[in-house]
Amino acid sequence: PRDPREEPDNGNVRVVVRVRGFLPREIEKGARNIITMNPDTQETTLHPPKHSNGSKKAYEKKNFTFDRSFWSCDPRDPHYASQEDVYDSLGSEFLDHNFDGYHTCIFAYGQTGSGKSYTMMGTPHQMGLIPKTCKDLFERIERNKDPNVTFYVRVSYFEVYNEHVRDLLVPRRGEVYYLKVRESPSEGPYVKDLTEVPVRDIKEVIRLMRLGDKNRTVASTNMNDTSSRSHAVFTLVLKQIYHDMSTDETTERLARIRLVDLAGSERANSTGATGARLREGSNINKSLTTLGRVIAALADNSSGSRQSRKRELIPYRDSILTWLLKDSLGGNSKTAMIACISPTDYEETLSTLRYADQAK
Ligand code: ADP
Repeated sequence: PRDPREEPDNGNVRVVVRVRGFLPREIEKGARNIITMNPDTQETTLHPPKHSNGSKKAYEKKNFTFDRSFWSCDPRDPHYASQEDVYDSLGSEFLDHNFDGYHTCIFAYGQTGSGKSYTMMGTPHQMGLIPKTCKDLFERIERNKDPNVTFYVRVSYFEVYNEHVRDLLVPRRGEVYYLKVRESPSEGPYVKDLTEVPVRDIKEVIRLMRLGDKNRTVASTNMNDTSSRSHAVFTLVLKQIYHDMSTDETTERLARIRLVDLAGSERANSTGATGARLREGSNINKSLTTLGRVIAALADNSSGSRQSRKRELIPYRDSILTWLLKDSLGGNSKTAMIACISPTDYEETLSTLRYADQAK
């Protein structure tokens, strides 16, 4: 049988952008929308704000084009991109790749409050990519009642905080234990002693997802909100074992499904951080900057126009996050970056769109 992993495939990096709606406090302040998206060209335009608080900074109109632009600003708009739309256009296709035996990785990037958790986790009634992927995964397994195929699913959930790894499926009591990152010659980098739970249905996964969420590190900064300072990596491992009745041989196909809610991308200096918080900020940025460089290098290496040039070295080792996700980034793996933006914040949005742009 055809092994899709042997087929050459370019363009394994997908970059999309999603703009969220106004929050009650933004409406109260009379905030205006400064984003437009063209549904035909997928172009996203950032417009100069009308009232720039007397700032002398020159704001310019900026255009960016990504693989998809999700307009999630106003549910009454005919172009509104719902949680279903995001799943149908990205999650579902990535799951196809997983069943074909590829690893995949989807990141949500953006400042705190830009809609990363909403996009990845969502709410109980507006499920995000993680629960939707789990649900679809088990529905597909259920539909595929082939006696020659056995499916196994395992779940793990960890966070990278300050360049340290913490198991999110172990309840937090008193002292926080960090796990060590090791490298095996056959498997590559991995987290030693990480909890991996075999799961049989969607209910079990949802329970683990909630448990992990509860254990996630959150610390408040001067930004009013509780801001998320860690990168949360939710992983599903899908193992398919094919049993050939005629030859009695078995073949195995394994895919890792990584769904990552990144720490807020706001710069450390803009949140009034000092001391430990500042160090935390720079470590968060180390992972985010390295991730940006890794994805940009991958996109460069797979783009046809640069084939004559020497292949770039991918700087996986420069941060814990990229080192651990090495097998899910590059090679035959598929990667997607969802740049989440607010409809009102010119500077943070510009910095997010620039980050996403260099990952194309
Ligand atoms: P982040 O994870 O980036 O800090 P959140 O996902 O918590 O941001 O989003 C901030 C707020 O905006 C939350 O109250 C969330 O429910 C809301 N929100 C974000 N994106 C959307 C969206 N597309 N539609 C409706 N509400 C959203």
